[in-house]
Amino acid sequence: MSKKWIYDFNNIKTDGNKDQKDLLGGKGANLCEMASLGLNVPPGFTISTEACLDFEINNKEISTEIKNQILNSIKIVEERTGKVFGDEENPLLFSVRSGARVSMPGMMDTVLNLGLNETTLKGLALKTGNDRFAWDSYRRFIQMYANVVMGFNTSILESLLEDLKDARSVKEDTELSAEDLKELSSVYKSVISQETGITFPDDPKEQLWKAIVAVFESWNNPRAQKYRELNNIPSSWGTAVNVQSMVFGNMGEDCATGVCFTRDPSTGEKRFFGEYLVNAQGEDVVAGIRTPAPINNESKNESNKNLQTLKECMPDSFKELTEVYQKLEAHYKDMQDIEFTIENNKLYLLQTRNGKRTAAAAIKIATDLHNEKLISKEEALMRILPKDLNQLLHPRLDPNSSKNLLTTGLPASPGAGSGEICFDPDTAKDRYENGKKIILVRHETSPEDITGMIAAEGILTARGGMTSHAAVVARGMGKPCVAGCTQISINYESKTLTINETVLHDGDFLTIDGGTGEVFEGKVPTINANISDDFSNFMSWADEIKKLKIRANADNPIDSEVALEFGAEGIGLCRTEHMFFEPKRILAVREMIFSQNEVEREKSLTKILPFQKSDFIEMFKVMGSRPVNIRLLDPPLHEFLPSSTEEKEELAKSLGITLGEINKRSEDLYEFNPMLGHRGCRLAISYPEICRMQSKAIAMAACECKKNNLEVNIEIMVPLIADVKEFKILKEIITTEVEFVISSEQVKFNYKIGTMIELPRAAITSAEIAKEAQFFSFGTNDLTQTTFGLSRDDSGKFLKDYKKKEIFLQDPFVSIDESGVGFLVDLATKNARAESSEIHVGICGEHGGEPKSIDFCHRIGLDYVSCSPYRVPIARLSAAQAAIRNK
Ligand code: PEP
Ligand code: MG
Repeated sequence: MSKKWIYDFNNIKTDGNKDQKDLLGGKGANLCEMASLGLNVPPGFTISTEACLDFEINNKEISTEIKNQILNSIKIVEERTGKVFGDEENPLLFSVRSGARVSMPGMMDTVLNLGLNETTLKGLALKTGNDRFAWDSYRRFIQMYANVVMGFNTSILESLLEDLKDARSVKEDTELSAEDLKELSSVYKSVISQETGITFPDDPKEQLWKAIVAVFESWNNPRAQKYRELNNIPSSWGTAVNVQSMVFGNMGEDCATGVCFTRDPSTGEKRFFGEYLVNAQGEDVVAGIRTPAPINNESKNESNKNLQTLKECMPDSFKELTEVYQKLEAHYKDMQDIEFTIENNKLYLLQTRNGKRTAAAAIKIATDLHNEKLISKEEALMRILPKDLNQLLHPRLDPNSSKNLLTTGLPASPGAGSGEICFDPDTAKDRYENGKKIILVRHETSPEDITGMIAAEGILTARGGMTSHAAVVARGMGKPCVAGCTQISINYESKTLTINETVLHDGDFLTIDGGTGEVFEGKVPTINANISDDFSNFMSWADEIKKLKIRANADNPIDSEVALEFGAEGIGLCRTEHMFFEPKRILAVREMIFSQNEVEREKSLTKILPFQKSDFIEMFKVMGSRPVNIRLLDPPLHEFLPSSTEEKEELAKSLGITLGEINKRSEDLYEFNPMLGHRGCRLAISYPEICRMQSKAIAMAACECKKNNLEVNIEIMVPLIADVKEFKILKEIITTEVEFVISSEQVKFNYKIGTMIELPRAAITSAEIAKEAQFFSFGTNDLTQTTFGLSRDDSGKFLKDYKKKEIFLQDPFVSIDESGVGFLVDLATKNARAESSEIHVGICGEHGGEPKSIDFCHRIGLDYVSCSPYRVPIARLSAAQAAIRNK
């Protein structure tokens, strides 16, 4: 038996169902489902996504087998409708629409009224008794077909239509006569053949084959490719094609077309609402030429309140539509977005799908559906895309505002913000203090820029990837960031930002959307985040179900408080170096780096110790007995070096050396590859006094809290080890220092000593390390960097090529590479647990806040994930979904 490529749907025979979206696309699967529910769906058939893939590998030809199956299905539609494709008297016309597995709004193509030519048109006119309607349908068909199938720029046709309206002194298309439209159609056809050199096809079958090919090909148009890239949709899915008999909403005053939602997609409120147009085709509702009317009073707004509702105008159809929407919502157990057409007072359903909605609406709808006993808590939790929670946690762009998109970079940290362009972090701080809103624009950021980043509404960088400094820090602060925006060129000297042809200056307004990576000219209005009771309640369901604990990466008390508000159960990573950049401390830190011997170093470390101690006390006060994981100093020292002459002079003075010596020592510290250089535990191996100072500060802070009756639960973490020997040496130093403080203060507190696993060698030798360490935390940013040998700072420039060629479906710095990096994480965890049943294992790289990676962490049985505070709700929901999915 030959393979089945075509799936029929009609009132007698329906081949597919709603669960076959992979094969039939969303639209096709739902058309089949509606038909089998006995709803009035115009008969048709779906050409499967497999046929699209076959077309691709078959030199872009539809195979004879597929063509024969299509011809067979046309016969079935002819039988069901009593019409004949290409017939002079009673012609069957088709709509041909794309329909992928997931909805890709407006990305691919549609052709309506297919099968019309000057002969079949006569039949249509005769059958309907409406000449004007027939010519109007033909005119629309020529326009759509020319555009979609022949790639013709239809603005020429639109101006011809406008010219004709002017010539006839009319405003609306509907005022043109049949004769006018006939004349227009013939002008259209001759213009098209003049411009393209191709005669407009009359043969309905030729029209159909070409339209199917055009829809298949639209899967690979640049729009669709971009959409797939942004939404991580593989090209291998292909699109289905739905060929469906036409029904007409534009056949007269007893006809209409419209769209409705079973609940409010903006708020989630339970109210049926939608819009419709009398005597129109679907595209007219979308095109906005006429203001659509409300279907009922609930759908009235300022612009449509005086128009007649469908309920008033066509009460019987409205009643039937009400029954249909209730049936569909109860069947799908979700809010539906339904397209309908009324032809001569008869209601037809053209599409139903789970309606797109705002995050707030999604939570309300899922909660309500559970309360209405339609879905379980688990189903309710699965209904929300974790990343959509960003909408609730960060400001977003007003979707109704007009925008001028300049370019797109990496969506490094969600949220939207507008402000004046500022190229320099110190100026940003000053302007912020004077009440200005700033977008900080940098080639890339470094820890030195932190004050400017704090002052900014948002951050835009030309370089850097998804785990670059700008991305990680902005995410931690909950600020929007667009990173690695390679199309921008920044000139710090002339203070200009050039994006393609546009040159912007210091102080000009710019808007960024860190959720999409888009950069807009000027000030685009934003909508603030709002956290409702529904949200808190919904998140408590997630907490009941999830297995993974959720911690936060936070370096200061404020971020720790935010993390707690969002539901964090501890701190999974406190990067102590972030505590070193405050102006009062940085000088002492620089003194330490520039010290030439241990004595000098100890001296500057003594100055830093009280700062560190008080930092830790403040963090412990916020976190109480929850675990707080403190990582010892990690970054390459050059990040702390002074850059301006002013700073260098200040340092020279305080060290009692010359500016020349400062420059010389800076050169000595230079590294070709700082990320693989003197950083992580290697610093403490060379300079154990740094580790001693930090351990002492942690222990003193803990003792002080204990003395004030505050329970603490501390984890001291060694970064970037490659060999257990490094860990042993540092563990010894930490233990000695902490125990010394404990015995001199006569106070005991809970602490553990463990390590990050960030290098493949550490992962491979984890059993050895587990003999010594009490916990592991996978630093998957560095582990990804070192497993791939891919710089986390520079790869942004070329990763897009890898995504385009689908070598990576997703940036491996964003979503964990399960088969490589993930394999190492799994292996290291298993081997470590075999050695030590006590060992506690988590992840603190950026993957800890990414839904797919969290699912992976759940599957391999990690104890916790840790992510920036603003991603904690996303992590909680993702962890719950992972538990449900992998039950
Ligand atoms: C990591 O490497 O995953 C990590 C958390 O450390 P950092 O990003 O600070 O290098
Ligand atoms: Mg790291």
